[in-house]
Amino acid sequence: MNNLFRSCVRLFNYGSVAAHIRNNVRYCASPSSEKLPLSLRRTFASAESSTNLHSVMPGPCLVFSEDENMLRDTVRKFAQSSIAPKVKDMDERGETDKEVISQLFSNGLMGLEVPVEYGGSGLTFTQACIVIEEIARVDPAVAVLVDVHNTVVNTAIRKWANPEQKKKWLTALATDTIGSFCLSEAGSGSDAFALKTRALEKGDHFVIDGGKLWISNAMEAGLFVVFANANPEKGHRGITAFVLDSKNPGLTIAKKEDKLGIRASSTCELVFQNAIVPKEDILGEVGTGYKIAIESLNEGRIGIGAQMIGLAQGSMDIIFPYLHERRQFGSRIGDFQGVQFQYAQARVELEAARALVYNAARMNDAGLSIRKEAAFAKYYSAQVAERIASKSIDWAGGMGFVKEFGLEKYYRDVKIGHIYEGTDNIQLQTIAKEMQREYGFDRK
Ligand SMILES: Cc1cc2nc3c(=O)[nH]c(=O)nc-3n(C[C@H](O)[C@H](O)[C@H](O)COP(=O)(O)OP(=O)(O)OC[C@H]3O[C@@H](n4cnc5c(N)ncnc54)[C@H](O)[C@@H]3O)c2cc1C
Repeated sequence: MNNLFRSCVRLFNYGSVAAHIRNNVRYCASPSSEKLPLSLRRTFASAESSTNLHSVMPGPCLVFSEDENMLRDTVRKFAQSSIAPKVKDMDERGETDKEVISQLFSNGLMGLEVPVEYGGSGLTFTQACIVIEEIARVDPAVAVLVDVHNTVVNTAIRKWANPEQKKKWLTALATDTIGSFCLSEAGSGSDAFALKTRALEKGDHFVIDGGKLWISNAMEAGLFVVFANANPEKGHRGITAFVLDSKNPGLTIAKKEDKLGIRASSTCELVFQNAIVPKEDILGEVGTGYKIAIESLNEGRIGIGAQMIGLAQGSMDIIFPYLHERRQFGSRIGDFQGVQFQYAQARVELEAARALVYNAARMNDAGLSIRKEAAFAKYYSAQVAERIASKSIDWAGGMGFVKEFGLEKYYRDVKIGHIYEGTDNIQLQTIAKEMQREYGFDRK
C-alpha cells in the first residue's frame, strides 16, 4: 500500500501529465486521457500550446483526470484497508489511532500540497480535496485531522512563511508533525477577530497570554499556528500569527472536549501563560494575522465541503445495497417508487454539492478568487450531507438506528459541517455581502 501510494505520488511529481496540470491547466482533466470526449481533448490540445491561463477554455469540474482518478482509487483502498477496521474503536475511545496517523504520514497524505523539496507530495488543491473526500467516506473524523493539517495549517505556512521557516516547519509537517490552527476563543467564534489573546513585544521575542477554544488536532499536534493581537489599539490589524512548538512551557492543553460527532478528532481548550515566542517564529508580518486566517480558512472551507460530500457518499454506500437486499410487501425496498424518488433526489443534490466543491477547488488551483465559491461549497455540502445522512437512516428503518449498521455515526458526524470554519449563517453572510458588492449595494 505504502509503495503503491508513493509510486502514485511519484507519478504526480515527475510525470509529464502532472507537470502539465500543475503548470498549465490545473483546473482541467488530463490531456492524455483517451477516455475523454474528442471536444474535451481539443480543449486540452489548445491549452497545451497556451501559456495564458485565461485563454484556456475551462473543462467540466467533475471530469477527473487519469491522475486524479488514480489518486482517488489509491486513497479509497488505503481508507478501506487501514482506517475502516478501526473506525468504531476510534469513535468509542474518542481518539485517532496512532498507527493510522503514522500511515497517513508514511503514505504522503500529511504533506499533500507541500512541495517535494520539503518532503511533501506536491499535489494540487483539487487533489487534496479528492483525498479528504475519500477519507471522509470512511471516517469524517480522520478526514478532519487530514483536512485541518493540510488545507489550513500547511497552507498558511506554505503561503506566508519565509524560506528558512518553510524548511523547518513544512519539512516537519510533511514528515511526522501534526499541525493545529488556533483562532477561536471563548468570546470570539463567528466574530473571530474580536480575539483577546495578547502578544506583548519584549526585545527579540513576544510573550503570549490568553486562551483558545475548540482547537482541532491539539492533543496530537507538534506545531500550533496561534493568532494573538500584538497591537490591540489597531483592532484586527494588530492580529499576528505565531508558530509555537507543543513543548513551549507557556502552552497548556486545559481540556479535551467530549463531543457528539467526529469523536476521534481531538478538540481542545488551550491556555497560554507567559508563552515566549522568538520573533523569527512570526508567520508573515506583525499585523497580517487576520489576512492569513481569512485566506487559509477560505481554502479550509472547501476542504470541509469535501469532507461533507465524502460523508454523504459514505452513507449512500451503506444504504443503497441495503435498499436492494431488504424486502417488504414482496418487493425490494429500493423498487418502491416513493423511495426511488427520494434517493434519486438525494443523488442530484450530492452531484450539485460535489460540483460546487470541485468548481471552487479548481478555481483555487487556477489562482482565482474563491471567497464566494468556498462559501457556496461549504454551506451547500453541509446541507446536503445532513439530509442524506438523515434520510439514509429513515430508509434503513430500525437498522438505521443501531450503531452496528454504521449510519448512526455519519448522522452524528455531519452536524459539525454546519459549525466549524464558519457556521451556516456566516457562509450566507459572506454570500450576501458578495451579492451586494456585485450589484453595487455594498456602500450604505
Ligand atoms: C469540533 C470543533 C472543531 C473546531 N476546530 C477549530 C479549530 O481547529 N480552530 C479554531 O480556531 N476553531 C475551531 N472551532 C471553532 C469553530 O470555528 C467555531 O465554533 C465557529 O466558528 C462558531 O463559533 P461559536 O462556536 O463561538 O458560535 P457563535 O459565534 O457563538 O455562534 C452561535 C450561533 O449564532 C450565529 N451567529 C453568530 N453571529 C451571527 C451573525 N452575525 N449573523 C447571524 N447569525 C450569527 C451562528 O451562526 C450560530 O448559529 C471548532 C469547533 C468545533 C465545534
